[in-house]
Amino acid sequence: MYSKNILESASKEKLNQIHAFSEDYKDFLSTCKTERECVAYCKKIALELGYKDLDELFKNHTKLQPGDKVFHINRKKNIALYRIGRKDLLEGIKILGAHIDSPRLDLKQNPLYEKNNFALLDTHYYGGIKKYQWVTIPLALHGVFAKKDGTVVDFVLGEDENDPIVGISDLLIHLAQDQLKKPAASVIEGENLDVTIGSTPLKGKETDAVKAFILNLLKEKYDIEEEDFVSSEIEVVPAGKARDYGLDRSMVAGYGHDDRVCAYTSFRALLDIEDPEYTTCCILVDKEEIGSVGATGAQSKFFEDSIAQLLLLTGHESYFDLRRCMTKSMMLSSDVSAAFDPLFPEVNEPKNACYFNHGIVFNKYTGSRGKSGSNDTSAEFFAKVRNIMDTNDVYYQTAELGRVDQGGGGTIAYILGNYNMDVADAGVAVFNMHSPMEIASKADIYEAYLGYKAFLK
Ligand code: MN
Ligand code: MN
Repeated sequence: MYSKNILESASKEKLNQIHAFSEDYKDFLSTCKTERECVAYCKKIALELGYKDLDELFKNHTKLQPGDKVFHINRKKNIALYRIGRKDLLEGIKILGAHIDSPRLDLKQNPLYEKNNFALLDTHYYGGIKKYQWVTIPLALHGVFAKKDGTVVDFVLGEDENDPIVGISDLLIHLAQDQLKKPAASVIEGENLDVTIGSTPLKGKETDAVKAFILNLLKEKYDIEEEDFVSSEIEVVPAGKARDYGLDRSMVAGYGHDDRVCAYTSFRALLDIEDPEYTTCCILVDKEEIGSVGATGAQSKFFEDSIAQLLLLTGHESYFDLRRCMTKSMMLSSDVSAAFDPLFPEVNEPKNACYFNHGIVFNKYTGSRGKSGSNDTSAEFFAKVRNIMDTNDVYYQTAELGRVDQGGGGTIAYILGNYNMDVADAGVAVFNMHSPMEIASKADIYEAYLGYKAFLK
């Protein structure tokens, strides 16, 4: 199964499975464009399937039994789901970890201003983006306003087909002589990534009349005051649904494959595991794109505390039990890989690159330069993983992130590796990574799901 094209020999039945799975995935990708929306989606499905809130179980001292289904949410932006196994937790956990934040533009805390009779929203980009890709495309606003009285107002604009969209303007080609001489990194300046939100002046208002008109609308429709922006999290993301890509419909185009494609496949793999031998876990984290920092990122103590709660509910009280459980655990750090793009072959070394339709991608290491920042998986663990894939007829391939010294990047793998746990990077090959329209292969998406399920089993 090592690096072969899935579609060359896929049966009709398998093709049907691939396409059916992608339909579900497209729904997820179309509706879940922020980390909060991903967590809410997972929580809803988990509750429907009988998963119980770990905090509630903990409060009631409810002992956990093999087969129990548990979820644990951290600040609405980070979720862990567990299926309790037949073996004791001290034998270790099988973990799938992915991130649910994606590169985007965030509204600043004081975003709204008026200039030349337009109302605009100032933004600060989040994660690594090519700024020029974010102008002149339909954009939507997703997020929340947290009010002083403790209420939180959900806000989505630009997704319903009757909704207006917003966007960022770019200079017309006719007057762009000077602009086009600039290097691509500064053709569009970060400070100029401002979203146009309106142009109607409020009657009778002399100064900032357009801004006043927008503020009136916000008050009327959402009961939001200008000061509420201070405690808001509004993300500017590409508007519209994920769609089939290619005449043959073999691919999916959408915003946020990095890393929601691995989040979704990991989540589904966990849900579809019945009666596991080892306790299985899917953890979806926030803030990977800015270094896995903060309370909801992979470096947060949340996961450790969550495991500690599981241990207490299965009769383990020693601090060393927590350390032992972590050390005995195994993880696939599920994150996307940079697919070999025929238009840019020069950035890859072809033998060690990943290709569309060749299955789940394993990276022994990521990192930059001399593997800096990578979790270099041990040969022994890689052998174990390879054996699992082969035994379960899962198509897989191995890759590096580009040619040596071409660039690089990292994942959450090393963070869990710090617990002295075996971790390997595994994910889906993606084109246009970090752009408003990323592309992934349907066959690879399905194969990642099969690979994750095989690993959990
Ligand atoms: Mn990623
Ligand atoms: Mn990324």
